Amino acid sequence: MKKLKEILNRIDGKGYKAYKDLKGKYEFLDYTLAIDHVQGDPFATPSKIRLIIPRKSTNVNEDSFSNKRRKVAIEDHLTRLVAEAISKNEKKAHGTGKSGLVSIDTPGQEVLERTAVEVTFKSITVCLSVGLPARGRTVLGKQASKMLVDQLADVLNHSVFSINEQRAEEVLKLNDQQTYIRSFLKENGMVAFIANGAILPRESGISSKPLDANKAIPFNAPKELEISIRIPHQTDPIKGMAIRRGITLIVGGGYHGKSTLLKAIEHGVYDHIMGDGREYVITDSNAMKIRAEDGRQVTRVNISPFIQNLPYGKDTKAFSTENASGSTSQAANILESLEVGTSCLLIDEDTSATNFMIRDERMQTLVSKEKEPITPFVDKVRQLYDDLGVSTVLVMGGSGDYFETADCVIMMENYLPYNVTEKAKEISHQAKSHRKQEGGKHFGDLSERVPLTESLDSLKGRKSKVAAKGLDTILYGKAEISLQYVEQLVDSSQTRAIAEILHGMERDNLLNDGLSLKELMQKVEKILDDEGLASFTVYKNQHPGDLARPRFLEIMAALNRLRTLRIEK
Ligand code: ADP
Ligand code: MG
Repeated sequence: MKKLKEILNRIDGKGYKAYKDLKGKYEFLDYTLAIDHVQGDPFATPSKIRLIIPRKSTNVNEDSFSNKRRKVAIEDHLTRLVAEAISKNEKKAHGTGKSGLVSIDTPGQEVLERTAVEVTFKSITVCLSVGLPARGRTVLGKQASKMLVDQLADVLNHSVFSINEQRAEEVLKLNDQQTYIRSFLKENGMVAFIANGAILPRESGISSKPLDANKAIPFNAPKELEISIRIPHQTDPIKGMAIRRGITLIVGGGYHGKSTLLKAIEHGVYDHIMGDGREYVITDSNAMKIRAEDGRQVTRVNISPFIQNLPYGKDTKAFSTENASGSTSQAANILESLEVGTSCLLIDEDTSATNFMIRDERMQTLVSKEKEPITPFVDKVRQLYDDLGVSTVLVMGGSGDYFETADCVIMMENYLPYNVTEKAKEISHQAKSHRKQEGGKHFGDLSERVPLTESLDSLKGRKSKVAAKGLDTILYGKAEISLQYVEQLVDSSQTRAIAEILHGMERDNLLNDGLSLKELMQKVEKILDDEGLASFTVYKNQHPGDLARPRFLEIMAALNRLRTLRIEK
């Protein structure tokens, strides 16, 4: 600390570049400050620092990181505590540009593996961004000292050094329960669980916070679909609706809550914080939302299970386009997900291409199969399950053609679910549909694509340039990847991580070994599991503080949307 103050005294009043002298480590009474990166001017990306605290001097016990999932939960909790302490801190320094700013990569409603805080047996590391204070381009040494010494100590005192053990325990208990439900689903042939009392609707279309409790109708399972799970840390079993493997149809009138239910299921691949309303909505972690995405590029995907005989003999076994249609993009989204091993498709009619989902009897009569390249999803959904073991949860209020193949039909009425499976089966027997099954008896072959090394080229001019912009965009060399329609990507720190991972894959030549996309994703998962989320970055042992873990399915989605993707023929 003395050393830090000495430097600050010396550079006070000098040009901003003098701050570079701060790089290094400083010992404080109960923690270490590491200044890893110093910004070039007051307007540049803030400086990166770490606070390293011996774990023994905090209330974090070994129990709280006894397994990987608990570790993620306690780290997430600490990140939130630090964020809270920063927002309440009033000792802020002021000045030009980002002077005086202190921030941590703050989580949203999900509990994701992050790099902002790391807990190990020895220490707790907190990664922060700080704006070193200046007036114009002049170093404000005293303000800097106030910030780096007093303010940071204050933030730690109100977070890491004053953990409320009871609150932390509750976070860990919830995490254990979520983990338990996840494995229960897996062992019992289920793809999702929605607890009674869950609040599914969100505050607005742009907020993931829960809708006001006075306005929301809590979820309540129909008796026939209700299950009880004996979860840890509470005597009464938790009850709710199970969605089993196979084909589940969600029907009901417009505005009765179908999409809201599906959205909650989509997000159930992640754990949510207490108070979110979806903390006990749990979905198979490998479930993939599928939608139409016209305009996206597609690179040599075998979409022939759905699409054949395109005009002018365009190949659909290795289908490429710079500008896919609604139906071809939806087919590509499905086949790419199957290629890397998704277990369950989640589809909403609102975001599907109609001609991809249905083709009724009358249309079959008017336009013969020879003239229609598309085999609709309704003819493939059963084979998906029977041949490949992949389940589907489908919102479909507009067509009864799915009644025959559905294993379970749930009707949403006034935001509550009812089991109408029997009724739907009865109707399909009485009013027989005369539509013909199309597209053969089997699902068909999946792609097994091998991406070529040249696919990842981060050079822009003479420099390597990769950057994430917000939640939806990654700039990769000269290419721009749009993830706008990859709907289970929820946090811009995940987007940043995907950018880092792709860049790391290029640097480490991961595409040189002729691995298939699936093998590649397995390899990336293993590296992330074994070496941590920061392992693809260049600042491995320093400051990777703003990354959150994406699923391999979203990494795959980004790679597939890279217009420079090249596939071995
Ligand atoms: P659908 O897909 O059946 O047309 P949505 O799921 O889009 O209907 O829901 C319509 C509206 O109702 C949305 O504004 C949504 O936020 C709201 N809503 C959905 N479920 C609930 C609920 N359980 N309680 C209160 N409002 C809800
Ligand atoms: Mg809808």
